[in-house]
Amino acid sequence: MQLAQLIYASRHDGTAVDTLDRILQKSRDNNVRDGITGALIVGDQHFMQLLEGEATTIGECFMRIMRDDRHHGIQVLCAHDVDHRLFAEWSMHRIETFRIKQKILSRYTIEGVFDPARMSQRAITDMCRTLAAGDWDALAA
Ligand code: FAD
Repeated sequence: MQLAQLIYASRHDGTAVDTLDRILQKSRDNNVRDGITGALIVGDQHFMQLLEGEATTIGECFMRIMRDDRHHGIQVLCAHDVDHRLFAEWSMHRIETFRIKQKILSRYTIEGVFDPARMSQRAITDMCRTLAAGDWDALAA
């Protein structure tokens, strides 16, 4: 199986908590079925999502995501083959930026705003690796 990773950015109009809960529930159900893992980073106005799994399955999932009107302005940030998963334990890890430790988040914001479409490739890769390593949650007990 060829393992692939796709990262995209999109915008939302202030996703309500219950909407986000529904998106995550459906995503996790489907992703367990499809062997997809990853993370959904939720900012005040932007999503950045990392999907990893078998290349064709990732493509099918992304086609569904692109048709979803709960977000817009979708831009693929990177898509390539990988040899291991970053979020192997997560059918879809929920990472809200308000929970990320300030000293970590500040490395990736531009003029104080999390706007993944404006981040460099290096910053995107670095942020994903840092979040996958854990110890980012300012509110964790
Ligand atoms: P169905 O069984 O038909 O279920 C679709 C469900 O989504 C229904 O409960 C429906 O009410 C709800 N729904 C769809 N669109 C809307 C809408 N506009 N408003 C309200 N409810 C709606 N799907 C994945 O499989 N994996 C992912 O990782 C994933 N990540 C996502 C990330 C984001 C930011 C968003 C916005 C969506 C994501 N989705 C993901 C959901 C995806 O867009 C599709 O809605 C879902 O994959 C459809 O699943 P299904 O074919 O089983 O459809």
